[in-house]
Amino acid sequence: MSRAYPDFPGAACHAEDVDPELFVTEGDRGRKREQRIAKAKAVCFRCKWRQECGLWAYRTHQTGIYGATTTAERDEMRRPRRAAAA
Ligand code: SF4
Repeated sequence: MSRAYPDFPGAACHAEDVDPELFVTEGDRGRKREQRIAKAKAVCFRCKWRQECGLWAYRTHQTGIYGATTTAERDEMRRPRRAAAA
């Protein structure tokens, strides 16, 4: 499985020593998945584009880890809050 490659110059995930597959979590489960997410987020947290990337992924409905957020976390952000609906 692959993902859309974020087009941010100098992005941390573009480094040669970073495995692009780290950011694809859909095939894993359990502990292996959690470890992959943690590693990918660690890369994102040292990236200067983290906020822009997360917003781009949120707006364009990307699948995978972007801006230190998972697909599920971005989906959760889109859900209306109960307090706001009440
Ligand atoms: S925030 Fe993460 S996914 Fe986005 S460009 Fe940076 S390292 Fe890549």
